[in-house]
Amino acid sequence: MNIWFTEEQSSSLRLSLKIKDVLYSVKTPYQNLVVIDTEQYGRALVLDDIVQTTEKDEFFYHEMITHVPMFTHPNPQRVLIIGGGDGGVVREVLKHRSVQQVTLVDIDEEVIKASKLFLPTISSGLSNPIVDIVCTDGIKFIKEKKDFYDVIIVDSTDPIGPAVGLFNKDFYTNTFEALKKDGILTVQSESPIINKNITVDIFKTIKDIYPLTYMYTGIVPTYQGGLWCFTLGSKLYNPLKTSINDFKLETKYFNPDIFKSCFALPSFIKIMLEGD
Ligand code: SAM
Repeated sequence: MNIWFTEEQSSSLRLSLKIKDVLYSVKTPYQNLVVIDTEQYGRALVLDDIVQTTEKDEFFYHEMITHVPMFTHPNPQRVLIIGGGDGGVVREVLKHRSVQQVTLVDIDEEVIKASKLFLPTISSGLSNPIVDIVCTDGIKFIKEKKDFYDVIIVDSTDPIGPAVGLFNKDFYTNTFEALKKDGILTVQSESPIINKNITVDIFKTIKDIYPLTYMYTGIVPTYQGGLWCFTLGSKLYNPLKTSINDFKLETKYFNPDIFKSCFALPSFIKIMLEGD
C-alpha cells in the first residue's frame, strides 16, 4: 500500500504522511473529522484536512501549552480549556496536584468521542471525575463567567470556521474577566514562519488587555514550519521571575530548563513583534 495523506500547509507548502489505515471518517456539524494511522507519527486526528495532533508528536505541543502557564501560577486550582477536545491538554493539566476542577469546552462532541475511541493515550484524562466536559461554543461560554478561573488555555483550531471568534479582542477581554485577579491565559499562536500576521495579531491584541504578556515558542514537528508560538497573558505573575523547584512531573519535552529558555525569542520573532 502506497497511500499518502497530504495537508496543504500554505499555497506553497505541503506535509505528506504515508498512511497505514483510515480508521474513522465523519462529517460533523462543524468540520470533517478523520482519524488516520500513519507510519511516521502513529494515529493522527485530522480536522478539515489539517493535522491537529498525532500520537508520536503530541507531547511537544500539549506539554508546552499546558505546563508554562501551570507553573507560572503558584497554585492553579480551577482550569478552563477551550477547544482541545482530543484531551491532550486535560491529561497534562491533571499532572498538577493543586488542580481541583477542569472544564473542557469543545464545540464539537464528535472530536471528544473519536479521541476517546481512537486516541486513548491522548484522551486518557477525559474520564477523570474532576473533568467537566461541555460541548458548546467557547465564545459564548466565556461570556457568562466572571472572576472564576486560575488558568485558561485556548487550544483551538486555526482561525477558520467556528474558531474565528476565538482570536479577537472581545474574546480575549472575556477571558480576562473570567479569570481571577491573579489568573493566566495561554493561547496557541500559530506558526511565526507561515502565519506571521496571525501570530503578531494575537500577541498585540492580548498585550493590549493583559498587564504582563509574553510570547514563547516550542517545536511541533507536524505543524506548519515546525516552530510554534504561544502567547501567555498574566494579570499578576511574571513567568520570567518564576523558577520551578523540585520538578517531579513525567514529561517528554517540558522541564525547568525549557521553562526558562522558551521565552528567549529568536531575533526574527522579536522584530516581528516590535513592528507597527
Ligand atoms: N492542537 C491543535 C492545533 O493547534 O492545531 C488544536 C487541536 S483541538 C482538537 C482544536 C479544537 O478546537 C477542535 O476539537 C474544535 O472542535 C475546537 N473548536 C473550534 N472552534 C471552537 C469554538 N468556537 N469553541 C470551542 N471549541 C472550538
